[in-house]
Amino acid sequence: MAIGISSSVFGLEPSATLAMSAKAKEITAQGKTVYDLSVGEPDFATPQFICDAAIEAMKKGKTKYTIASGIPELKKTVVEKYKQEYGLDYSPQQVVVTNGAKHALHNVFFSTLNAGDEVIIPAPYWVSYAELVKLSGAIPVIVQTEEQNNFKMTAAQFEKAITPTTKMLLLCNPSNPTGSVYTEAELKELADIVIKNDLTVLSDEIYDKLVYEGNKFISFPTLNPDLTERTVVINGVSKTYSMTGWRIGWSISPLHLAKKMGELQSQETSNPCSISQYAALAALTGPQDCVAEMLKAFTQRRDYVAKRIADIDGLSCSEMGGAFYAFFNVKKYLGKKLGGVQVDNSEQFCLSLLEQKQTATVMGSAFGCEGYVRASFAASNEILKSAFDNIAEFVSG
Ligand code: PMP
Ligand code: GLU
Repeated sequence: MAIGISSSVFGLEPSATLAMSAKAKEITAQGKTVYDLSVGEPDFATPQFICDAAIEAMKKGKTKYTIASGIPELKKTVVEKYKQEYGLDYSPQQVVVTNGAKHALHNVFFSTLNAGDEVIIPAPYWVSYAELVKLSGAIPVIVQTEEQNNFKMTAAQFEKAITPTTKMLLLCNPSNPTGSVYTEAELKELADIVIKNDLTVLSDEIYDKLVYEGNKFISFPTLNPDLTERTVVINGVSKTYSMTGWRIGWSISPLHLAKKMGELQSQETSNPCSISQYAALAALTGPQDCVAEMLKAFTQRRDYVAKRIADIDGLSCSEMGGAFYAFFNVKKYLGKKLGGVQVDNSEQFCLSLLEQKQTATVMGSAFGCEGYVRASFAASNEILKSAFDNIAEFVSG
């Protein structure tokens, strides 16, 4: 019998961010220069002291299986961080260390959702959310937010989307792909609705350290003591410490769920890379100047990108309070010919821009929001300059 594809993965869409990044890499491999603003990956090297900790771990023979849910030292450090920075009380047993934050998301959906459960996801949303929810048999319920409201879901929009089968709210704050940051008051309103309707929350806080002046990050469970038992927090080292390839993330959840997700991991993946876990431990416990330095560079780039977008006729972008993405409106240019090619939607816009100007971005449709394009500004100043010169030329026809 020929090997078939299961119905669970048959309709699965590949990650659009990784697909665009792969396209950019393919063109680069052909010897051409690509200005790559597709994938959300800091361009900085992983700080040396973190790499040294990994080398040290290897020298000390930390190259074997660890406990499937992660080394106790790292769990303890995560818990101490959340206590010190956000005043939250967790036990190390509530932490599950995962193969990147993406894996933590999968663990949570797979371990808490049943077929037919609804998960409310404000759009634009990060590309993997809806697909991972569907993979667990549950139903993503997309709530469209407005550019005028900085793409933040209002309490009224949230309340309207709730049905008797709603199980979970998935919140990404600061947001990928828009960079919006919810205020405490806005989060409180959402939290009240969560409690009133007896829902659970998955709070993706992977950009908690990438928040620009004038904005304040609030960890969701701090809003009300009643939230700790119904919220899972996701975080990791990928973005904060420029450690995307090391693949270390984690979830912090109620104990019974953490135990089950650890068991799931013991069957599915075993432990995340032992060496990377020691590197992550060094990242969290070592000097934090690298985080401040990267944030300073991202702030300058954010300001530069905001100005370049504002200077291009017809493009607009909401306020970028955190993360490293600009999600800009290209609606004025849809339905037109750009460089002689008809461009009717954000996907055609991005593919033509890549083909004609070797500039890689990601289509808004992949984030559930047509008419927009995402550019990651986790790229060097030179690349950003060339990329926005190219975007300006591209839309000028
Ligand atoms: N959540 C969000 C919002 C992200 O942007 C990313 C990007 N990678 C992830 C989770 C996954 O992170 P990781 O690379 O650690 O799997
Ligand atoms: N989160 C990043 C992005 O949105 C990395 C790519 C991915 O994991 O999808 O570009």
